[in-house]
Amino acid sequence: AAPHVVVVGGGAGGATAAKYLKLADPGLRVTVIEKNPVYIRPYGSSEVLNDHIGMADLEIGYDRLRDRYGIGFLFDTVTGVDPEQRIVRTAGGSRLAYDRMIVSPGIQLLYDRIDGYSETLAETRVPSAWIPGEQTRLLRDQLHAMRPGGTFLIVAPPNPYRCPPGPYERGALMAEWFQTHNPTAKVIILDSKDRFVPGPSMLLGWNRLYGYNVPERFREGMPLDGDWPLREHDGPGMIDWVPGYDGGRVLALDAGAGVVEAEAGRFEADVINIVPPMVAGRVAFAMDLVDGSGYCPIDRRTHESARHPGIHVIGDAAQADTMPKSGYSANTQAKVAARAVVDLLAGRETQEPVWENTCYALAGQEYGLYVADVFRLVDGRIQRMDGPRFLPLDASRAQIRLGALYQNHWMQTFTQDCFA
Ligand code: FAD
Repeated sequence: AAPHVVVVGGGAGGATAAKYLKLADPGLRVTVIEKNPVYIRPYGSSEVLNDHIGMADLEIGYDRLRDRYGIGFLFDTVTGVDPEQRIVRTAGGSRLAYDRMIVSPGIQLLYDRIDGYSETLAETRVPSAWIPGEQTRLLRDQLHAMRPGGTFLIVAPPNPYRCPPGPYERGALMAEWFQTHNPTAKVIILDSKDRFVPGPSMLLGWNRLYGYNVPERFREGMPLDGDWPLREHDGPGMIDWVPGYDGGRVLALDAGAGVVEAEAGRFEADVINIVPPMVAGRVAFAMDLVDGSGYCPIDRRTHESARHPGIHVIGDAAQADTMPKSGYSANTQAKVAARAVVDLLAGRETQEPVWENTCYALAGQEYGLYVADVFRLVDGRIQRMDGPRFLPLDASRAQIRLGALYQNHWMQTFTQDCFA
């Protein structure tokens, strides 16, 4: 019989893996086990908050993967695995035998790591909206109903986390929304970190669009003349970032009072959006794929688990060294893992992998930034190759607009590459 590959999780990583397994070897049997019959994409989901798109635009079905490539789908929750017998179990009572498995379950959010915060609060009053769904809708409604002149407070997570530019892009999109709908409102981002990607180019965007004063230490290379120089602003601007060195680390939430307590003091806010610390999705723990880091150690060449042979881990749940946790990363890791699985099943030598990632981020609807990287295997680790990475700080207005256009088109072509 044809070998059977089971894919756990039909998100950016899992869907891509299933498709590329079939492209590489149409004779394989491939079954995706996924909790939800409709995927709600996290990438681009902050754009629901400002009504750039609707909730329905995040939804992606699996018909094309099934019909075009003959991939099997089981909509059920995986609960565990017997790695010796190579059998995976689901909540619905199914037991599926596999020859190899690819696991891409994404993340789980550790709400309780912040004093006073909980999953219940996230679902009812203080949404995180880092795994999109009802919390995204709730946060959107809170943004839209915020009182004139109110404060929208974002708590950014510690490293490592899903989508490094995400909290800062969200802050920018909120400020842009307020410019039109609530011009005296403010955005505050509290952060335990001292830097973020794509730091300076985002800070420059905030400076130009929302009156943010860039701290001295981040100004190197920013244009001081020309057609769009760095500006000094008198007032505090619409957006403020409080990094770790300024006391941005959060100590506690008092949801009743609408207060976040940080090292720098008490911050009152009308809307509070917390992105808590995170680790690999629950099922990765249930399958015993996780180590003390909270993520899954792998052999980088094949993405095969360092704990259980025959199981490959990709996407946000995997330990991938210098690669960021992004949809783009999950997608290229899926291609590497799919190829390795096909080679291993055929008894062939596996190939030298190359990965890439581009994180696009918006400082405004027409202000696009990016960080682009190629990665190779060096001494058993995934290492970023040297070279230009960011939209240059002296980019022209036209290049910046193009950046936003790239982001927009990437969203569509990327989704096609994963799901169609
Ligand atoms: P996911 O896409 O989360 O997929 C995991 C899947 O596994 C889910 O469908 C889930 O239902 C399923 N699953 C989990 N447990 C089980 C189980 N026990 N049984 C069955 N199924 C299970 N990335 C970019 O590249 N570019 C961007 O511009 C970008 N923007 C972002 C903006 C925001 C606001 C956020 C939050 C994220 C953004 N990302 C972006 C990150 C990107 O969405 C994630 O990195 C990517 O989705 C990770 O893919 P994954 O396959 O690891 O996990």
